[in-house]
Amino acid sequence: MKGIAVVGAGTMGNGIAHVFAQHEWDVTLIDVDKKQLEKALATIQKNMDRQVKKGALSEADRDAALERIATSGKLDAAAKAGLVVEAATEDPALKFSIFETLDGVTPADTILASNTSSISITEIAAHTKRPAKVIGMHFMNPVPMMQLVEVIRGLGTSDETLAAVMEIATALGKTPVEASDYPGFVANRILLPMINEAVYCVMEGVATPEAVDTVMKLGMNHPMGPLALADLIGLDVCLSILEVLHTGLGDSKYRACPLLRKMVAAGHLGRKTGRGFYEYSR
Ligand code: NAD
Repeated sequence: MKGIAVVGAGTMGNGIAHVFAQHEWDVTLIDVDKKQLEKALATIQKNMDRQVKKGALSEADRDAALERIATSGKLDAAAKAGLVVEAATEDPALKFSIFETLDGVTPADTILASNTSSISITEIAAHTKRPAKVIGMHFMNPVPMMQLVEVIRGLGTSDETLAAVMEIATALGKTPVEASDYPGFVANRILLPMINEAVYCVMEGVATPEAVDTVMKLGMNHPMGPLALADLIGLDVCLSILEVLHTGLGDSKYRACPLLRKMVAAGHLGRKTGRGFYEYSR
């Protein structure tokens, strides 16, 4: 099983394609947007060049890895893959439709994984005829650098599928951690309430964004403060994950801070718009 299709060539898709190609998998990178495919290939090349400069990858291995990546605009191109990792836009209806199509075009024993941050794996699996072969493979951003892969087991995911994916993630040099399919899994269930509480501290005048981040960096040894991290993730993405936690778990402790809502409404989404809790030159 050394052929993988990656669906979605955005931030996560290019990183996932990079890591698999570097570990000798034939990769088919699929996106509906041709420009995204071109951009992804350029990003992978740039990031591999950086690894070569650092001595982490030989020039020959870089060239071979780049050779192993093909691109396509159509999901049919996943037809021969033993594993598909879907990393398309975080929209439930879109993902359901992608999985319905993938279920039709891939062999019945192909594992269909999703990199979703917040959509239920069980619900995605229900849009296929192979829930035993559907699983969450939640990589962290930036994929080539980050060690963790959260492996999420849907209600119908088989032991065999779980074991295969844990083994694949380990062979990619990552550390897989198993989690059950509940809203936010583990990473976002813990991270987002922390970010939300940091926003409450700012709203209530407990401390400035700089002060909150400094406390968490110097006091808790976090490499980055929660508000700088929120700006990096995107405040709209943070809000939508909090909504998933609040709706899915039904506990008021997950309610999004009004200041976070106000900033999203104003279009201050963080780095990507040049302004969030901090200002960024673009
Ligand atoms: P992105 O917006 O950078 O990329 C999404 C890509 O999907 C785009 O290139 C888009 O053209 C493509 N796409 C849309 N519809 C498609 C279709 N029908 N077929 C094929 N491609 C299609 O998004 P991203 O940040 O890379 O996130 C992708 C997934 O990864 C989401 O589920 C997100 O929740 C998850 N995720 C993101 C991060 C992160 O930090 N960005 C971290 C972990 C998980």
